[in-house]
Amino acid sequence: MEFSIDDKTQTILEMIREFMEKEVYPREVQFLGKTMAEMKPLFEEGRQKVRQMELYSPQLPKELGGVGIGFMGYALCCEEIGKSPIGPNLFGSQAPDAGNIEILAKFGNDEQKEKYMWPLIKGETQSCFSMTEPELAGSNPTRLACTAEKDGDDYVINGHKWFTTSADGADFAIVMAVTNPDEPSPYLRASMIIVPTDTPGFDLVRNISVMGHAGDGYGSHGEIMYRDCQVPQSNLLGPEGQGFVIAQERLGPGRIHHCMRHIGIAQRCLEMMCKRAAEREVSEGKTLATKQIIQAWIAECAAEIHGSRLMVLHAAWKIDTQSAYEAREEISLIKFTTANMMLKVIDRAIQVYGGLGMTDDTILSYFYRHERASRIYDGADEVHKVVVARRILRKYQEGGKA
Ligand SMILES: Cc1cc2nc3c(=O)[nH]c(=O)nc-3n(C[C@H](O)[C@H](O)[C@H](O)COP(=O)(O)OP(=O)(O)OC[C@H]3O[C@@H](n4cnc5c(N)ncnc54)[C@H](O)[C@@H]3O)c2cc1C
Repeated sequence: MEFSIDDKTQTILEMIREFMEKEVYPREVQFLGKTMAEMKPLFEEGRQKVRQMELYSPQLPKELGGVGIGFMGYALCCEEIGKSPIGPNLFGSQAPDAGNIEILAKFGNDEQKEKYMWPLIKGETQSCFSMTEPELAGSNPTRLACTAEKDGDDYVINGHKWFTTSADGADFAIVMAVTNPDEPSPYLRASMIIVPTDTPGFDLVRNISVMGHAGDGYGSHGEIMYRDCQVPQSNLLGPEGQGFVIAQERLGPGRIHHCMRHIGIAQRCLEMMCKRAAEREVSEGKTLATKQIIQAWIAECAAEIHGSRLMVLHAAWKIDTQSAYEAREEISLIKFTTANMMLKVIDRAIQVYGGLGMTDDTILSYFYRHERASRIYDGADEVHKVVVARRILRKYQEGGKA
């Protein structure tokens, strides 16, 4: 086991830390509480600075205009960038664009890369990923009602989607639709199809109001009707019927991004908690930091953050050295562990801040509202727990043959 971080990654992490401390945290209040449309000029300004430092898109290799530090390096960057809700937008690693770039790079043809991937990499366009449907349980995404039927050289898409993050203002959606309904395996029935949002029949019904989320632009979650929405068959991403295989490729690295972001948030809350405890006098000459119950919280939070970080880095290492498929148990473990750990740390930090913790004068209340969704998206806690337990139990149920 090797825990050291190479010099190049260390330098990049220090540059990101310095940028976050100087440029991002002090200006957070300018951003928060605003609509994404209002934040756009501020994002552009910040992105310019990040580009000048050659730190834009740490998730991408150099040939795609990224930083080129590999997957493990990127995982470490996610912790630093994720300490502020605006970090990923400034560094060009925001979901769902980052995941969409990855699958376009891996499965897109030359024309799709030219038309959709490059403008997304350059930050000129916005994208979304449209899979979950209101009428069917999103926890089992093999059950989709949305269809894409062939008509001449086109696909005609009909379906109802919701929670399509960043749909408002998106230039295109990657839509998961059933193209092979007669395929015996439910995992081989759906395909991913690129749908420009100005296609007739693409109807953004509303931006769903989600607790703690901005509600427009990148922060939107759209309900969309696809009504006889016709796109050329050349908009198929990867082979037909391979939608789930591609989704797996997208979700593995995507979960590392989210989980390291959770660790970044937890670490920042712990640092804020310690600062407040050390400064806040509760009786003559005695600060909160002198109280054993607060000390115990600080120690527990530090231990839980450290344990979670090691788990995520191990999962990232397994994806990097083997594959997202081989690492699926580790990915499930980290998904529910880091989300719950983060929410517990945020809650304790708010408690230490007392009434101030409930206000929007600090970032804590924003994190509390915004991050509750982390136990639901990318697979609810319970679904991941079932995956892990099923694999563990198999060897007992099948006489040690797992
Ligand atoms: C903020 C946010 C952003 C999102 N972004 C996107 C996006 O960009 N694109 C997209 O397509 N979707 C997106 N989603 C949708 C998300 O992926 C789904 O909400 C999630 O998969 C759960 O599906 P569901 O809401 O239909 O809940 P359901 O499937 O109805 O499940 C409800 C609850 O039932 C329990 N449950 C479900 N299955 C099991 C089981 N097998 N065993 C035990 N308990 C179970 C869990 O507690 C779960 O929370 C987003 C959601 C949120 C909240």
